[in-house]
Order: sequence, then structure tokens, then C-alpha cells
Amino acid sequence: MNSQLIPVSELASAAGCPVRVFFNRSNPWVEPSSYTICKQISYHLGSRIERDEIWQEICRVAPGIDPSYKSYYDTCIDHCCNKEWRAASEYDLFVTSDRFGICGTVDRIYTEAPYFSVTRSVKPPVQGIYPGDRIRVLGYALCLSELLGMELRGASIDYIPGGISRYYEIQPRDMRKFYSIRKVLANIYAGSVPKKPLHAPCGTCYYQGRCDPGPTRLSDLF
Ligand code: SF4
Repeated sequence: MNSQLIPVSELASAAGCPVRVFFNRSNPWVEPSSYTICKQISYHLGSRIERDEIWQEICRVAPGIDPSYKSYYDTCIDHCCNKEWRAASEYDLFVTSDRFGICGTVDRIYTEAPYFSVTRSVKPPVQGIYPGDRIRVLGYALCLSELLGMELRGASIDYIPGGISRYYEIQPRDMRKFYSIRKVLANIYAGSVPKKPLHAPCGTCYYQGRCDPGPTRLSDLF
């Protein structure tokens, strides 16, 4: 196994489009305000939600946040207040799997099954969870299984803007996808330029316009 651990977040991103991972590696990640808001709300799920107090925490975490995000915050809180949430026993647990060569940070840990959940700052799909979230569940489950010494078969995805938590049980196709993406990422780390997949989610991509109509060579990307 390569000594360089692959972040689960990169696997999830590559599940949508490996070209995006290629770009991300040369563009330092800047935390979006929507993520800051959802992440801070997530620390309060399962306990009494103090609306004003949480917003003040967000303003301290991100002092430059645009005040117009307050309405986004209010919508998230409105949706989350209408739902019963489990209280987490631990937050932001860094985990690794030497066996599978991956690492990541698990948002919320619980004392009973399902033992973890992933915080997302997007609305949920109409049904189920997003393909990238399936890889997140699988990747963190592999890491936590190694840490806890027992096999985890699923987890919940907390879609904060929709106030919805969805349980997902890992399927054989997820493990197959994991192996194929891990190979693509290993090639990117080794210097290869990935190809644009046929169903790349360009319409919602931050890099839209930078690599259309479809890169196959380095010169296509810049
Ligand atoms: S614009 Fe499309 S091909 Fe380019 S990185 Fe984004 S999803 Fe991938």
C-alpha cells in the first residue's frame, strides 16, 4: 500500500469527477460560508438549539462572514428544529485505515449504532443519498471498523439545509467504486492528468468553464 494516505473527502470528490480533484490539489480549499454554518449547527443537534447563540458562534468562527448568510442560517435552523436528532458522544474524530490507505475526519460519533454520521451542507436528494456520500460512508466505515475492531455496515448523512438525516447501508457496488477511484487518485498523485468522465457534474461545478468541453491533456486544463 502507498504510504501516502488518501483523504476520504478526495475519494468522494473523485467519485463525481477526478478532474475536480486534480484542480483542487493546486487550489487551496477555502471553507464556504454554507459549510461553516452547517458545521456549527451540527455541534448542537441533539441538544437544545439556541438560535442567537449559534449565530454568534458562527460569527466568531468566521468573522468576515457576509451578513446576508443569516437568512440561509435561519432556514437551516428552521428545518433542523423540526426534527429529532441523536446527541453525539464525540466530534471531528480523525481516523485512518492502514489496510486501505485512507484517512479522514468523522463529523459525529455515537455510542450506539449507527455509530457515526457525516455532516453535509447541501440539500438532500429526492431519495437516498448522493454518490459521493456513499463513498464517504464507506471510507469512514472502513477507518472506524479498524479503530473499533468491528465491522460497520452503514451510517447516517445529516443534510443540514434540509433538516434531514438519512441512514445508508453500504452496498457491494460501493466497494467496487472505492477500488476504481483509489486507483485513479493514485495515478493523479503520481502525476497523471485524469480524464473527464462522461457524466461529469459540470453544471454544479466550481471549475465550470475551466475545462470544458473535456480535458484529455494537460494543455487542455490551463
Ligand atoms: S467542470 Fe466538469 S469536468 Fe471540469 S472539473 Fe468540474 S465536473 Fe469535472
